[in-house]
Amino acid sequence: MSNPIVRFAPSPTGRLHVGNVRTALMNVLFAKAEGGTFVLRIDDTDLERSTAEYEQGIKDDLSWLGVKWGKTFKQSERFDMYDAAAAKLKAEGLLYACYETGEELDRQRKLQRVAGKPPIYNRAALGLTDAEKAAYEAEGRMPHWRFKLSGGTVMWHDLVRGEQSIDMSSLSDPVLIRGDGSYLYTLPSVVDDIEAEITHVIRGEDHVTNSGAQIEIFRALSDHLPEFAHTPLLVGADGKSLSKRLGSLSMVELREQGIEPMAIASLLAKIGTSDAVEIRRSLDQLASEFSFEKIGRAPARFDEKDLTALNAKLLHETSYAEVKDRVPGDEDFWNIVRANIEKLSDINDWADIVLKSMSGEIADEDKAFCETAAEFLPEKVTAETWSALIAHLKTETGRKGKGLFMPLRLALTGQQHGPSMDDMLQLLGAEKAKARLRGQAA
Ligand code: GLU
Repeated sequence: MSNPIVRFAPSPTGRLHVGNVRTALMNVLFAKAEGGTFVLRIDDTDLERSTAEYEQGIKDDLSWLGVKWGKTFKQSERFDMYDAAAAKLKAEGLLYACYETGEELDRQRKLQRVAGKPPIYNRAALGLTDAEKAAYEAEGRMPHWRFKLSGGTVMWHDLVRGEQSIDMSSLSDPVLIRGDGSYLYTLPSVVDDIEAEITHVIRGEDHVTNSGAQIEIFRALSDHLPEFAHTPLLVGADGKSLSKRLGSLSMVELREQGIEPMAIASLLAKIGTSDAVEIRRSLDQLASEFSFEKIGRAPARFDEKDLTALNAKLLHETSYAEVKDRVPGDEDFWNIVRANIEKLSDINDWADIVLKSMSGEIADEDKAFCETAAEFLPEKVTAETWSALIAHLKTETGRKGKGLFMPLRLALTGQQHGPSMDDMLQLLGAEKAKARLRGQAA
């Protein structure tokens, strides 16, 4: 394949969430795999809902994920091009003025349903005379503009879904321009895909029907027609739509929770594919494994538990050098606690335990036992101290198993689980350890 050009086209009406990041990744990974270009298009034709902050936020989110774009542009700066395309379609009779109000269209659809007919736009506006149009406009009605579909069948070979065939006579002619003159995404998207010479449109399968109409618009405007790949949507672990939860699954939220970008990318690139879900350490590695053939037709299940597990796995393999600017403590501290965190933010709990002053938990029946431990501790803790302490307490007190070490762990850390105690004891040092074993804050 000769250097594909793909694009990711978010609307800056919110921050990126796992759903649109998956689409972004499919584009990026394919481009990387094929030596292609990734274009970032900002779909901000909805001037009311789009903001510069969201646009910047989307760019920040992509950068955080390690995604780089070859070129970026926004639709709000290209209205001249869309106007020219609309004029061409109008001149060819493919874009026609309609004057029905929303209520009139609703009423029509209701009547069609009652008559057992599909609620397809009846194209009444095609029969309007110039005088009738002028009369509507004199009344203050501004036209919205519909694209005249061919009524035939549109077919394409979808790189994920295989052969696709859409009967255009089953669809209403899509509105391309609203009554207030603003563009819906349909036409600008085609104009931009032509101008940027996009070779592959890779997006969610909620766009399959749009693709039927857009292919007809491509054909009406140019000789350029990209290939299409529509990927199945993400659903939750319960198989239900994620739409209501997407806010909490934004990159901003996940980053705040301490989820690492490569945990997100690894999961989103692999779920719903024939590959195993495993941690990958770079987008290049994910790209080398990418192929449309591996993407299944069933919805991809996104389970936050998988994300946490992958994140933990990633952190457990992460060296101090990679995180040193983001974590408290030194290299020894990181190497000892990293196996006990799922999210980077969990490290703060261990930092509190090791670096700050606190007192652990000592049950009444363990007070004397812990005092014996405190007395035994040498001035300087070494790698051997913990096993020597345990051996000593075993002979002195006859305790064994959990009754032997758990009171010590609780007294020293306040936790039932954590890093190995010989490491912890060294991190704490003799002074802190002795004080905590005596029930004092240290
Ligand atoms: N802005 C559109 C969306 O987010 C783009 C769709 C497309 O990729 O063509 O749904």
